[in-house]
Amino acid sequence: MSAGTRPRRISTAPTAPGSEPTPAPPTPEPAPVRPREKRPFLLDFFPLETADQTRLSPFFDHLRAGKLTTTRCRKDHSVHWPPRTACPQCHAEELDWVDLPDTGTIYAFSAVLGGAPLGMEDEVPFAVGLVDLEGGSLRLFGRIEGRPWTELRIGQAVRVEPYDVGDGRFFYRFRVVE
Ligand SMILES: [Zn+2]
Repeated sequence: MSAGTRPRRISTAPTAPGSEPTPAPPTPEPAPVRPREKRPFLLDFFPLETADQTRLSPFFDHLRAGKLTTTRCRKDHSVHWPPRTACPQCHAEELDWVDLPDTGTIYAFSAVLGGAPLGMEDEVPFAVGLVDLEGGSLRLFGRIEGRPWTELRIGQAVRVEPYDVGDGRFFYRFRVVE
């Protein structure tokens, strides 16, 4: 199954230049146009990303620009993961976006050998794991690319890699550093 199904378009035949306009035939009630294939929410592996869908849209805008970021509280300076719209410590909504390190090391990993999420069936087997970002303050979960899962090791160096999901959305994953 393709992850990036294009929107269906209804095309209208162009009118030839100079031709008399002819009365339009009675048209049946137009079928509703679906903008794109929409997966059931619980089967959609990736979050909704645009500003009208989430207040965390800057996170995805930053990913698109190649940067992994998260939120930091202006009052108590706590750094959150995942990014928040309110500080989990003091509930303040005055948060700043801060850059995160783009390198880290594998803390733990596993392989998906079957039962992959919708749209990822063709990518099995693939590795997922926990990565300690450089500096050690945050541990992130994600896909690990670049080596077969049988060649991954605890402590291996990885870098953060923003990538195009294929339907206009961006997400991050990790790639083993050569
Ligand atoms: Zn706070």
